Amino acid sequence: MSTIVVNRKNLNWLDKTYLPSVFLGLWITSKHFFRNLFFHFLHSLGLFRHIRAAVTYQYPEDPRPLAKRTRTRHRLTQREDGSPRCVACMMCETVCPARCINIIARDHPDPHIEKAPASFDLDLGMCVYCGYCVEVCPEDAIRMDTQILDIAAYNRDQMKLNMTELLQPRSTKGGQTPVDNPMLSTGV
Ligand code: SF4
Ligand code: SF4
Repeated sequence: MSTIVVNRKNLNWLDKTYLPSVFLGLWITSKHFFRNLFFHFLHSLGLFRHIRAAVTYQYPEDPRPLAKRTRTRHRLTQREDGSPRCVACMMCETVCPARCINIIARDHPDPHIEKAPASFDLDLGMCVYCGYCVEVCPEDAIRMDTQILDIAAYNRDQMKLNMTELLQPRSTKGGQTPVDNPMLSTGV
C-alpha cells in the first residue's frame, strides 16, 4: 500500500494574520451588495430590467411562489354535493410510511358507493410529504396542492387535521386560504 504525501503550503507571516482572507470575503460580499443595490435602483427607474438582481421575499407577508408540482398540505377533494370523494378504501392509510393517516369507514347512503369515511385524520407532525397517499388513491380523493406550507404549531395536537380541516384547508398564519388560492378553485 502506497503512501500519498500531501505537501501543504507554508504560510508566510501575512497569511498567518488571515487578513487577506478576511478582505477577500469582504470584497465578495460588498461586490454582491452594491451590484444588487445598483440594479434594483435602475429597475425602479424602469431601466435594465432584463438584468436580474437578487430577489428577497418578505415572508410570510410575501410568500415565495411555489411550483405547481410542489407537495404542500393535503386536502380531500369533494363531490358536487360537498361530501368527500373518498371511498374509505384504506389504500392511503396502508401505504403511508409514517403511519400518520387514520380512517374510520362507514356505509355510504348511496348504494352505488360502497363506503365513505366516518372520520379521516392526518397527523402533519408525522408526515414526511412523500406523496404516496396521493399516488395510490384510486378516486383522486386526496391531493397535496393547497400551496400551504406553514404547519408550525404550539403543540403536536394542533398539527393533527380532521376531515373538516382536510376538506376546507386553511393556513394557520398569514398564508394562503382557499379563497385566494387558485389551486383550490377547481371545483373538486
Ligand atoms: S405524504 Fe406520505 S407520509 Fe404524508 S400522509 Fe401521505 S403517504 Fe403519509
Ligand atoms: S386512498 Fe383515496 S379513496 Fe382510499 S381511503 Fe385514501 S383518500 Fe380515500
